[in-house]
Amino acid sequence: MNGCDHLVKAAVLTAPNQPIEVQEFPRPEKLEDGAALLKVDLAGICGTDIHLWHGRLKIPYPVIPGHETVGTLEEMGKGLEKDLLGKPLSVGDRIYFASGVDCGRCYYCQIAKEQTRCINRKVYGITLSCKSPPYLFGGHSEYVYLLPKAYLFRVPEDLPTESLVSVGCAAPTIIHGIEVVGVEAGDSVAIQGAGPIGLFALALAKESGASTTVVIDSVKERLEVAREMGADFLINTNDAISPQERVQRVLDLTDGIGADVVLECTGSPNALDDGLLMCRDSGRYLVVGHFTDRGTTAVNPHLITRKQLKIYGSWGMAPRHYYKALKILRTIHRKYHFEKLITHTFSIEKAQEAFETVENRKAVKAVFKP
Ligand SMILES: [Zn+2]
Ligand SMILES: [Zn+2]
Repeated sequence: MNGCDHLVKAAVLTAPNQPIEVQEFPRPEKLEDGAALLKVDLAGICGTDIHLWHGRLKIPYPVIPGHETVGTLEEMGKGLEKDLLGKPLSVGDRIYFASGVDCGRCYYCQIAKEQTRCINRKVYGITLSCKSPPYLFGGHSEYVYLLPKAYLFRVPEDLPTESLVSVGCAAPTIIHGIEVVGVEAGDSVAIQGAGPIGLFALALAKESGASTTVVIDSVKERLEVAREMGADFLINTNDAISPQERVQRVLDLTDGIGADVVLECTGSPNALDDGLLMCRDSGRYLVVGHFTDRGTTAVNPHLITRKQLKIYGSWGMAPRHYYKALKILRTIHRKYHFEKLITHTFSIEKAQEAFETVENRKAVKAVFKP
C-alpha cells in the first residue's frame, strides 16, 4: 500500500458510464463479530462488471466492483472460527468466498430451496454500495470486507489462486447451469460463446462424458483456447457464415440430428435464434449468458412446441456451486490449465484501462493483482 497504512485503494464505479475512479478508503479498524477482512491476492474482471459500468443493471452506486476474488485472511471478527466446511480458519489462510449472501429466511431460501433467487440477496461487488462504512465490498480493491453471514472456503493448498480466479464466477455459474440442464455421458453438446463460462462449460461437458463438443465464437484466440482444452469442433462466426450455415454445421457434426444440449454462454439475444435450431428435437437449451438485460429477440413458439424443446435458465450460483467449483478445479486444473486463460493482469491504478480491455474483448480473462 502506498502512503498511509490505514488507507485502502479501490476501483469505484461512481455512476453509469463515468470514468472508473481509484479512491482511497479507511481500512476498517474493528471488525463486527463474525466478519472477515481479506487482503486481495487476485480479483477477476467479469463481463458483468462492464455491464455495471454502463448501468445495464440497477445497482446502488457508488460500488467497488469485483465478485470473483481470492484473498488472504488478514483479520477475523469475534466468533469467526471455521469455514463453511468446518475447517478451522486462521490469519494467513487463502480464502475463496461466495459472492452472494442470502437471508436464509425467505420463501426462496427456505421453501423453494433456490438461494440464488433469495429476495434479500446481496452480492459483493454488485449490490453492496461503498457509500458508507465498512465500504470495502468489492474485489477490485486492496482489501475486501466480508459480512458475518458470508460463505467462506479455505482454498486447498494444491489449488493455485490463478486457477481459481481465471474461471472466477464462470465456474460456479456454469456448474449451476449444468446442474439445471443436465449433461449426460454420450451427449453431444454445442456451446455458444467461448468466454470463461463457455470454456468452463466445455471442460465440464468433457468431464461429464460428452461424446461431441462444438464451440462457437467470433474471437479466434478464444476458439484457440477451446481447441487446446480439447473441443472436438470449432465454429468461427466471423468466417462469413450465416446463422443457417452455423446450424447446418452443428447438424452435420451430430449425425444430422442436432445437439442433445446447447449452452448459451454469449449474452447476445440473437444467439437464441440459431441456438434453438441447433438443438435436436426434445433437446435441452440453457440460457445462462444473460445477467443483464440486452433486449429481446424474435422466437417462433411453434419451433418450441414442434421440437418439444426443453428451455432452461439459471441465475448466478449458490454456496454449493462454489464448493463444487473448488472440488472440480482441484481435480482438473492441471489437465485444462485454466490459469492460461489469464491474458491480462492490472494494478488497481489501471482500473480504467483494465475495464476497457475487457470491454473490447481483448482479454480472455483479465485480473487485478493489487
Ligand atoms: Zn461474474
Ligand atoms: Zn432469502
